Amino acid sequence: KVRDGEVQRRKLHNLVQELRGNVRVYARVRPFLPDDQAPAGAAPAISARGDGVSCVIVKRDAQRGGDGGSGAVVKTDTFAFDRVFPPSAGQEAVFAEVSEFVQSALDGYNVCLFSYGQTGSGKTHTVVGSGAGPMRGIIPRAMEQVGRYKCSLEKQGWAYKMSASFLEIYNEQRAPGAANDASYDARHEIKHDTRSGSMSPVTDLTLLPLDPTDTGEVERILELAARHRAVGCTSMNARSSRSHSVFTLYMRASNAAAGSALRGALHLVDLAGSERLDRSGATGQRLKETQAINKSLSALTDVFTALANKTAHVPFRNSKLTYLLQPALSGEGKTLMMVNLSPTDDSYSESLCSLRFASQVNQCELGRAKRNIRDASATIDDGASTCSSSSSVASL
Ligand code: ADP
Ligand code: MG
Repeated sequence: KVRDGEVQRRKLHNLVQELRGNVRVYARVRPFLPDDQAPAGAAPAISARGDGVSCVIVKRDAQRGGDGGSGAVVKTDTFAFDRVFPPSAGQEAVFAEVSEFVQSALDGYNVCLFSYGQTGSGKTHTVVGSGAGPMRGIIPRAMEQVGRYKCSLEKQGWAYKMSASFLEIYNEQRAPGAANDASYDARHEIKHDTRSGSMSPVTDLTLLPLDPTDTGEVERILELAARHRAVGCTSMNARSSRSHSVFTLYMRASNAAAGSALRGALHLVDLAGSERLDRSGATGQRLKETQAINKSLSALTDVFTALANKTAHVPFRNSKLTYLLQPALSGEGKTLMMVNLSPTDDSYSESLCSLRFASQVNQCELGRAKRNIRDASATIDDGASTCSSSSSVASL
């Protein structure tokens, strides 16, 4: 049962969020892993501070010796974000700070969460996670939350309709295996659904009707996502992901008795690795991929730079990624950036780049988020906000 107190708390929360602007930046430092081959007791290059909102990155010089043989510290930089998760923070603790964004989508906002960082820094672990147990990540936990909420609101006369889509953005062009399929690009073209008023992007192939209370259905969708993922081998990590993966949950709700309707969207984005060319040792096809990845990541940077500088023109159309996320990244949405960081000294320069980009994003303001809601007292053009479903809904 959704109690009055809960409703009041959310109203207050949304108000506070509006006052603070609509971009949040969280940083998460992963623990050392056996693959890192760090000596026992090695000090991490990045440490979260006790305040929960800042972290320190240190550069060490292995030649000059230092405490515990890890090299003398030659430079330190401190960064502050809305939240910094230390390596000890588990999936549940991270989701506890994310669930308010999921709730915002249920309340009728266009919300985007993306994980940014070099390959191996923990992006997929954060967004997708593994298994159905405590290591499950944000997508399955968000689905659980949405499912619970849907059930409780249905008891109060609300009808919720949901659909999910998976989109892989690979080489800014086409997905692997579709190299000779000319129709593939057309089918995966990103379109903004202008009929709906709130411009939700739709792709013909991947929009699936979904019941988040059916765990089997959710699992099948996650499996589908795992299979669609383009995985290649760079010298950095065998599990390197070469594509951006965008999971979107579209929600439409209506309450006939109250004459209310709302629509929200939740984009959960696992970005491709942000590492630069010189470090990944890529050549040939891999080099082309890395360039394309860099292109869309730099387009994302350009968008945030324009937003931070309050430039009149924001270049959303320079990449598929930014075009897809435009409704969430523009003034009316809410954005959460998760910057994932590896604790190794080897990753120092990539980590510093990620932290700098994150603090740039931290300076952005999107303006006032707009709730896509219509109620009996509001005069909103019917065609712009009805809960009719998109014409391109396809079944599995
Ligand atoms: P990315 O998607 O950024 O390339 P992954 O999410 O695949 O990185 O993480 C690389 C490895 O590190 C995986 O084996 C993952 O399970 C592990 N890992 C990442 N973050 C954590 C964490 N916070 N706790 C435990 N293991 C983690
Ligand atoms: Mg990954």
